[in-house]
Amino acid sequence: MATQRVLDFLATRRPDGPCLVVDLDVVRENYRAFEKALPDSRIFYAVKANPAPEILRLLATLGSNFDTASVAEVEMALDAGATPDRISFGNTIKKERDIARAFELGIRLFAVDCEAEVEKVARVAPGSRVFCRVLTDGEGAEWPLSRKFGCAPAMAVDVLRRAAALGLDAYGVSFHVGSQQTDLTAWDRALGDAKRVFATLAEEGIVLKMVNMGGGFPTRYLRDVPAAQAYGQAIFSALRAHFGNQLPETIIEPGRGMVGNAGTIRSEVVLISKKADNDNVRWVYLDIGKFGGLAETMDEAIRYPISTSHDGGETGECVLAGPTCDSADVMYEKTPYPLPLSLTIGDEVLIEGTGAYTTTYASVAFNGFEPLRSYVI
Ligand SMILES: *Cc1c(COP(=O)(O)O)cnc(C)c1O
Repeated sequence: MATQRVLDFLATRRPDGPCLVVDLDVVRENYRAFEKALPDSRIFYAVKANPAPEILRLLATLGSNFDTASVAEVEMALDAGATPDRISFGNTIKKERDIARAFELGIRLFAVDCEAEVEKVARVAPGSRVFCRVLTDGEGAEWPLSRKFGCAPAMAVDVLRRAAALGLDAYGVSFHVGSQQTDLTAWDRALGDAKRVFATLAEEGIVLKMVNMGGGFPTRYLRDVPAAQAYGQAIFSALRAHFGNQLPETIIEPGRGMVGNAGTIRSEVVLISKKADNDNVRWVYLDIGKFGGLAETMDEAIRYPISTSHDGGETGECVLAGPTCDSADVMYEKTPYPLPLSLTIGDEVLIEGTGAYTTTYASVAFNGFEPLRSYVI
């Protein structure tokens, strides 16, 4: 899975310690695939997935817009060359002074999911466009985002009505079907909810214009996932089914699907041991773990492909753990991970599909381990 460019980089540069290497060619291909799959949607890259300046600059050059969650991310997108009209402040949980700062920087598109947030935006970002996030059930997603963000569709009507009354531009509805979403029908259910919000408000003369269809586009880990084109077709037919000939403006916000498969982590086996003589399960400790960037292994949610130089040989079940002095730093134990029996201490392993949600999740210096290093090539 690692591209030849990544393998060559690791072979020639031999960086010390665990590191992530991201191949920009793959990011470019992913961007083009999204463009092709949903030609009428604007792409807002979810900056949190991987905010490396090289990635943001490439995407800015390709014409991408950016979904940000903090003033710092707004500034990163601006530094990468995006103009403020290409940036949304998509976090529904913002301090009023951060909204004010973003407004000063030129941002005019904000996410909300309750009236209190609408009131903040109205006070310090007058006249801005707001879209209201509706809840989804996250069904079918490997990393669901349900409950914390969004409100019931019926409440979204009240929120957007309040926005209009306060002089904001009640612009649309957003949702996120859950990250690593492999059920193509998930967008259909959410688009049905969005359409009902549009219809109810239209009766009162509030005409919404936009549906933000969020992220959720997957990266291939151990199982095959549908291609961007299949998502495009499913989403387009769902749009047609619910909105007929009056298609709204649409936005997608890929994060994982834009950068996940572009990155590979190179790690080293620090220790292999057993807990008892009669125990068959080996414990394999790597120099990276949950606190070094693999936080999405929480509850064993994301299962990364791991390759070694012994692949093809006989394998045995392993518990896979990180190097820190915290017993929570175990990646796979409930479902042990098969690794070659000939794997030994000091061997290198490649953890694939790690371009998204790794560098930003690494702790600053837990146990003195430095944050995950990254090379963007
Ligand atoms: C995290 C996030 C995304 C990106 O989600 P992926 O599943 O990585 O594509 C998109 N939109 C919002 C609002 C997010 O919080």
